[in-house]
Amino acid sequence: QDEEDPPMPRHRVTTKGTNVPEHAETFQAFQEQYNMSPVLLSNLKQSGYKHPTGIQSYGIPILMESRDLAAISPTGTGKTLSYLLPVMSLLGSPSSRAKDEHGTGVRALILAPTRELAHQIHNECLKLAQGRKWRITLFSKATASTLADKSVRDKVDIVISTPLRLVSALQAGHLELHNVRHVVLDEADRMLDTEFLPQVQEIISACTYPRVQKAVFSATLPAGVEKVAMSMLKDPIRVVVGLKDT
Ligand code: ADP
Ligand code: MG
Repeated sequence: QDEEDPPMPRHRVTTKGTNVPEHAETFQAFQEQYNMSPVLLSNLKQSGYKHPTGIQSYGIPILMESRDLAAISPTGTGKTLSYLLPVMSLLGSPSSRAKDEHGTGVRALILAPTRELAHQIHNECLKLAQGRKWRITLFSKATASTLADKSVRDKVDIVISTPLRLVSALQAGHLELHNVRHVVLDEADRMLDTEFLPQVQEIISACTYPRVQKAVFSATLPAGVEKVAMSMLKDPIRVVVGLKDT
């Protein structure tokens, strides 16, 4: 990619909710407005990203203002970065973990319906985290047993997992979620269907931090599922990108 690359295709964006933050057209604007770490922004550049996509331009300010979000945007429009960038930015430096008066433990949780997807998110997260000492864990059989040691898991910043794996760890007493400040459900249409819903609900109710921020991302959100999603969110903003709108 070079400087002449056109921006990703523009989509129609609609928002619904109270006090919707202004969207931003450039990554630079996020940095100026929200004081994002220059390291995150330079890692973005490293990946060849020059302009935010529609969902990034609208979703990132909403998450940076600590609001709950339901984001609906077609496949391939960069939903992953729409939550990784603000979540990592809001968590601050990895070292702020130690100074935090709210204690230790996982601070951000990203749930996805399949191992492959969790793996992809993990990779994108690692790229964005380059140069910082973040502890980012892709939950698997192997990491689950490592994290059975509380002194190890207390140092983890971000966990990426499928629901089933995480519920097992919770039930085994191998994980606490009381310090989680950001929960993201990716591919929320699947996460909130009947297969995963009980597990997702169990996970969410273990996230007892009082001001926990929640966000759901999906390419589509059928009415029934959207109702479930909205009931989990607090004063949410809904962003819809593209043709799909009702
Ligand atoms: P979605 O989850 O909406 O299907 P992804 O987050 O998987 O989309 O992103 C799709 C592709 O677009 C990925 O290869 C990602 O690296 C790339 N991408 C994301 N944001 C941007 C951007 N702002 N500019 C260019 N490419 C981007
Ligand atoms: Mg995706």
